[in-house]
Amino acid sequence: MSGRLANLSGPGVTDAIGTDSVVLLPVGAIEQHGPHLPMSVDAVIADEVASAVLAAVCDDVDLWLLPTLTVSKSTEHAWSPGTLCLRSETMLQVLDDIATCVAGTSARRLVFLNAHGGNTSLLSVACRDIRVRHDLLTFLVHPSLPPASGGTSTKEELGMGIHGGLNETSVFAHLRPEEVNMDLAVRRVPEWMADNASVRFGGSVQFGWTSRDFGPDGHIGDPTGANPELGRELFDAAAAGLADQVREIAGFDFRA
Ligand SMILES: [Zn+2]
Repeated sequence: MSGRLANLSGPGVTDAIGTDSVVLLPVGAIEQHGPHLPMSVDAVIADEVASAVLAAVCDDVDLWLLPTLTVSKSTEHAWSPGTLCLRSETMLQVLDDIATCVAGTSARRLVFLNAHGGNTSLLSVACRDIRVRHDLLTFLVHPSLPPASGGTSTKEELGMGIHGGLNETSVFAHLRPEEVNMDLAVRRVPEWMADNASVRFGGSVQFGWTSRDFGPDGHIGDPTGANPELGRELFDAAAAGLADQVREIAGFDFRA
């Protein structure tokens, strides 16, 4: 059996959730994504991709989705009014509280499906803390690895399409075409950083940054070529990749 945890009755949880169950928390964000996109982008992508994964694996994995955590660690966009942001310590506590509740069921596996790059470091910390505190097996997966964490983005964006760029805008145009304003989509690639050997997104030197450090628009990348067809390809590939990852997670355990 698999489904959405919130749709179960209280007593039904005991019947439905067992030691083989995988509990998945989609993590999104409500944060500025430049002038051409709404702030809901990461929340919508987290929600939709989690639903697609559930549909893909429901016959072979005992997967239970938690409601999407839509407000998270958006410090790099907090300069933009309307962005909703948890501070690091709050978010770690929220994740720990959710883990406490998951540990109160029979489930042993908790997966964070993260659609916002700004959460990645903190979620890695949470994975280990929760592993130790609650004896859960914890996992962190992404629809696509954020370029700032070693993932890739397009050559045209010099590998710096990290926020509201071609890929993300395309995926959102596939999911919510009526909410994208392509008239306001402009190229904002920090070309001055492209030749740096180390101090760059995904480089060997990490650096603190906000989206405002790269200009007033708030997005980083080139959304001008975004289109829903590309978005559908990326979305389907991400969902298929995540489904495989969740299947492997369902059978994963440590052997000492
Ligand atoms: Zn985003």
